[in-house]
Amino acid sequence: MSEEIITAAATAWGYGGIAIVRLSGEGCVAAADKIYTSKTHKKLSEEPARYMALGTLRAPNGEPFDEVLAVRFERGKSYTGEEAAELHCHGGLAAAQRCVAELCRNGARLALPGEFTRRAFVNGRIDLAQAEAVAGIIKAQSDEALSASARALQGEFTAEIKKLTARLTELYAALEVDLDFPEEGEGFLAKEESAARLEELSRECAELCSRCRCGMLLRDGLRAAIIGAPNVGKSSLLNALLARERAIVTAVPGTTRDSIEETFICGGLPVRIIDTAGIRDTEDEVEAIGVGRSLRSMEEADIVLRVLDGAEEEGAAVLPRTDKPQIIVINKSDLPQRITKEEAEAHFPGSAVLCVSAKEGGGIAELKELILQTAAAGCDVSQSYSVSARQLECLARAKEAVDAAAEALKSAAGEDAALSCVSEGAAQLASLLGLDAGEELLDKIFSAFCVGK
Ligand code: GDP
Ligand code: ZN
Repeated sequence: MSEEIITAAATAWGYGGIAIVRLSGEGCVAAADKIYTSKTHKKLSEEPARYMALGTLRAPNGEPFDEVLAVRFERGKSYTGEEAAELHCHGGLAAAQRCVAELCRNGARLALPGEFTRRAFVNGRIDLAQAEAVAGIIKAQSDEALSASARALQGEFTAEIKKLTARLTELYAALEVDLDFPEEGEGFLAKEESAARLEELSRECAELCSRCRCGMLLRDGLRAAIIGAPNVGKSSLLNALLARERAIVTAVPGTTRDSIEETFICGGLPVRIIDTAGIRDTEDEVEAIGVGRSLRSMEEADIVLRVLDGAEEEGAAVLPRTDKPQIIVINKSDLPQRITKEEAEAHFPGSAVLCVSAKEGGGIAELKELILQTAAAGCDVSQSYSVSARQLECLARAKEAVDAAAEALKSAAGEDAALSCVSEGAAQLASLLGLDAGEELLDKIFSAFCVGK
């Protein structure tokens, strides 16, 4: 084998109890042995595979620089599928950094981002869907997001895609028989039957797409922009949602001049919440920049929280409209109210309306619930798969191809056209799993990983 030996610290770069240095590639155990000896004077290559041994790392002059736990993995029985080893150094930067440097002096080179996982894929240990699930696990910020990626890593998502592919292939064969031996060939399928099967496949693709969208939402979260006139209580609402003092709250209009962003986890979903400067005509130049930003943050948001001051009459006026999902929040419900829920509903047809008190906390839990319902409608967290945007794209294209095949069967284009659409659908599913992935695509996917993974 001619693969290069790669090495990197696999744990986060900073202070911690241990720092794991990872090695992979033919000859990597021998490279580790250049710096490692066990307490019983054995080399790592003399220890059984997958056995943790306690030993010392030494510089070329024989001086020890760390005491470590070391383990080796045989070819075919490691994460990458290659001969591999791990040295569990003490935490902090120095020991692991030194260890990596010494290994690089002894024939290893620094691993590229995601290179260990890339090798696992290239060596057929995992498919691309699983490799991308690893990235999702690393990124997960909640238990729910973690499960959505773990399901994909376990191969559940891959199994679903393979089932879909098998049925597309079966249909392809049947359509081909129809073309060659109309009406009589073995495996003959009536046109109506083919159409029915395509419809069912399209439905299943759509359902899988929505489960993936839900998983992506869990992993990447959503952006909620708080907008409204000055002094209606936007900053207070942000603090109430975060349940701590973050934004500066004052009675002087125009205090929040820049946007403030914070994240809270709501039903497993990271919600990035943006408190914007109040929107109004302003002479103040700095504040005017803030207003421009708040309009932009509204455009970038997945959901808009439009805050009105329930104790003031003119609240609903002037503010720009949006076609984003929107919740109307009537704030200051602890004061005598001059805007009713009904008035707000009439003014913003189609938007949910809720009365809250940012100051006293009334209605805040309901607001969180409503944010989830509005932004993640129909999302069943326990059924979701956290996949990459690329994978979702492939799945959506597969569905389009299936729909086009059904369309072709119905129209004059006929079975010939349907056949090529079905084959396109299967090709999209194959590329989802990375069966035809070229170097360029792999570079793009794995460069987004961390070094050491
Ligand atoms: P912003 O300019 O929209 O960010 O408004 P702030 O959050 O800075 O609040 C403006 C003023 O309204 C402050 O004096 C807050 O204490 C007050 N305020 C905010 N929310 C409430 C509320 O729910 N009830 C009452 N009574 N006052 C509030
Ligand atoms: Zn503010």
